[in-house]
Amino acid sequence: MQALASASFVVIGAGGLGCPALLALAAAGARHAIVIDHDRVEAHNLQRQVLYDVGDVGARKAEVAARRLPALHVEPRVQALAPADAPAFVAALPSTGVVVLECTDQPALKFALNDACLARGVPLVVGAALGLRGQALAVVAGRACYRCVYEAPPPDDEVPRCDQAGVLGSGVGQVGMLMAHLALRLCAGDHDVAGQLWALDLLDARVRCLAPAVRAGCPAHGRAAPRTTPD
Ligand SMILES: [Zn+2]
Repeated sequence: MQALASASFVVIGAGGLGCPALLALAAAGARHAIVIDHDRVEAHNLQRQVLYDVGDVGARKAEVAARRLPALHVEPRVQALAPADAPAFVAALPSTGVVVLECTDQPALKFALNDACLARGVPLVVGAALGLRGQALAVVAGRACYRCVYEAPPPDDEVPRCDQAGVLGSGVGQVGMLMAHLALRLCAGDHDVAGQLWALDLLDARVRCLAPAVRAGCPAHGRAAPRTTPD
């Protein structure tokens, strides 16, 4: 598929979500990715960050990911992307042929990238997993976005930390794979997958696909650019 061969997948965060997403993209035949992560591999995360092994502890995740996935031609960027950086970061991406995958555990960054990608017409997939629940949402103009569903980031002191709520390897694995699938569908020009909130409940072994409406007054849509489809 020409669109896949020429597409660039921008994976922000190479941890529990980013690792399975990158593996799925590589397995599907994607040929280029940009991986953004400033963290180093840590031993206590290895059970869910499946691109790395004990010999990688202390190395930069983005650089190890690039070595592990040669067919994906990963461009590693060792940088921390702050929410305030999102507009300039997205503006610097090519206007076509790019899909962004938000794979961090930072709610404020998910909202900032939602707004910036909608404003520039860059397709985005946002995911999260904590405890026994996970979600994934593909975002394009004209469909319900991350801000339509969640409105605003919670206060920092109300965000449960991974070491408090727990992260199940199988949970982030499934959400990461689902994020890659949604990104591949967007790459193929299938925007019907956008605006659907995939919600996983691992305790009940249940997956729901919800169809939230575009929220009246959602500020992200007021700034939205026309959709773009990867070439
Ligand atoms: Zn919205």
